[in-house]
Amino acid sequence: MKSSRLQNHWQRLPEAEVRRLQAEKLRHYLRTVVIPFSPRYRDLFREQDLDADSIRTLDDLQRLPFTKKSDLLPAPEHPERFKEFIITPDPAALARRPATILRAVLHGREKVEAELAAEFRPVSLFFTTGRSAEPLAFLLTRRDLDNMTSASRRLMEVCGAGPEFRMLNAFPFAPHLAFWFTHYAGVSFGTLTVSSGGGKVLGTEGNLRLIKKLNPDAIAGVPTFIYHLLQQAIEGKVRCDNLKIIALGGEKTSDGLRRKLRDMAGELGARNVNVLSIYGFTEGKLAWAECPFPHDQESGGYHLYPDLGIIEIVDPKTGRAVPTGQPGEIVFTPLDARGTVVLRYRTGDYTDGGLAYEPCPYCGRTLPRLVGRISRSSEIREMHLDKLKGTLVDFNELEHVLDDAPHIGAWQLELRKAGDDPFNLDELVLHVSKTDSTPDPQLSRELHERFYSQTEVHPNQILFHSNAEMCRLLGVGVVMKEQKVVDHRPRPNGDAPASAVKPELNKTL
Ligand SMILES: [Zn+2]
Repeated sequence: MKSSRLQNHWQRLPEAEVRRLQAEKLRHYLRTVVIPFSPRYRDLFREQDLDADSIRTLDDLQRLPFTKKSDLLPAPEHPERFKEFIITPDPAALARRPATILRAVLHGREKVEAELAAEFRPVSLFFTTGRSAEPLAFLLTRRDLDNMTSASRRLMEVCGAGPEFRMLNAFPFAPHLAFWFTHYAGVSFGTLTVSSGGGKVLGTEGNLRLIKKLNPDAIAGVPTFIYHLLQQAIEGKVRCDNLKIIALGGEKTSDGLRRKLRDMAGELGARNVNVLSIYGFTEGKLAWAECPFPHDQESGGYHLYPDLGIIEIVDPKTGRAVPTGQPGEIVFTPLDARGTVVLRYRTGDYTDGGLAYEPCPYCGRTLPRLVGRISRSSEIREMHLDKLKGTLVDFNELEHVLDDAPHIGAWQLELRKAGDDPFNLDELVLHVSKTDSTPDPQLSRELHERFYSQTEVHPNQILFHSNAEMCRLLGVGVVMKEQKVVDHRPRPNGDAPASAVKPELNKTL
């Protein structure tokens, strides 16, 4: 209840007050938790000659160096570097804390010991997801799960869910944030939730049976799987007329996909569906949602929880924080996390809108919001399409272009080498499935034009597939990040191509 009241208080504050309270909370967190008990940050603060009081305002955060994913990856001389980021309290130091002593006097030693265990002892372990990067392990304590419970309940409020809702959680069952955050969202909000585990556990058939049985008000999952599921539901003439919210996570959501999913829900008998996007990452142990907005308007952005974490937007090249409302890379600092803790964590995600503090035009909350489109900053790839020079292709932009394209449903971009020769030119193959009976040559022409007008690059080949073949290519329902862009280029040193390194990603339904 405490955090609910806190949230109600925070969501009515102006920008300056939010930032002041965040700085105050950060100082307290650094002083009592991070600097004393995090091996990594204890050393780092010492090396940089900083302490908690060095952070007077949020602008002072910039005095702290960033933490990057590579800082947690094992190195040959240091195979378990991620352990340095785990909050590991010293029992003697804890026993000396005035608050601990006072509580022990008031409530007895046993109760205090139980509280400390709940605060610091890891009880769960999640892994990061990514198309190419090595997964990282993140430990969570009971306190982290409590914060996740509070955040996920707020996420349900932001989405406009009701406690009487029935929800289908179709995220892949895995030790990943999306599945568990959705599970906690249902439990904490008091909503009947069935977690199907996605396509891998129950198959598309099993998920369809659940839709028939449950007639859900909300469905949450990965966009490509939800698309596939609704398509199958339409083919099977399933009714799903209670549906009000489709919540999508794990991949970005384009306007084109929202429109398609709304139309499909309409065919299932659901006339007024909000397709809402969820953004989150394991390293932050949090996820944020959009509130419902009119279909012909721009999203109000992801509504943040300012008491649980700080989001900064920085220039990805210089690392300098950008002014409110400017685009840049998303950087996260928790305010109450235990277990594995990273400060000023560079997500590698880029927002073209930045932060907004004015009241949300749709729900009126004055929570900070992350607005605009979010994309992976690492998805601009160099391709050698002709012999003269490399061409930079922005795959983020291409994904939006393809999601918005008429007549096509699922798609995949494949990068190959001509003749599988690592020294030859790169080739771009577009795999698509059609949503209607547009003739292949006509659609092929339209896609070529659309592709070229946005990227000045032509795909070498456009291949048409059935829905089932596309699902197999994409790993629909099996993986968190479905493989919309796959790199099958062999490397000159004889290494396997990037997407062949993880065999589990190539499993089929
Ligand atoms: Zn809103």
